[in-house]
Amino acid sequence: MSGKRSPAAYQNSLELSRLAKRRRRGRCVDCGATTRYGGKGAKPAVSERCHSCASALQAKWSQESIIGAIQRFAAENGRPPVAAEWAYKKTKPDYAPYLNTVRDVFGSWAAGIVAAGFPQPRIGAYQRNPRPNDRPHVVFDDS
Ligand SMILES: [Zn+2]
Repeated sequence: MSGKRSPAAYQNSLELSRLAKRRRRGRCVDCGATTRYGGKGAKPAVSERCHSCASALQAKWSQESIIGAIQRFAAENGRPPVAAEWAYKKTKPDYAPYLNTVRDVFGSWAAGIVAAGFPQPRIGAYQRNPRPNDRPHVVFDDS
């Protein structure tokens, strides 16, 4: 196979693809807007909700619920979380939002920690849970 198709055949395949995607449009279950085909392998193949209804549904984190998660973490660990811990699914508790969610809602990680009633965090002020091969802990006190 040379891999080169005629321009007409190429245009035809584009048109077929466009029509196939159009046939697969759906209706948003919340507002009735047209939703789009999610692409090959997407499940469901057609989005159930339009973009704005889907993001409204995902916006489950409020200032209150984030503060609750930070305070729960502090109660369980004896200290507030450090940013790196909530950056990854692996190191974050299931009940906690991601670092970037805290930043989105509060403007910064530190602002979220302060809103939850803890002092302004300094880099290195709290130590995350230890891992093997950790180097000795150092606090940078720049005051
Ligand atoms: Zn909608």
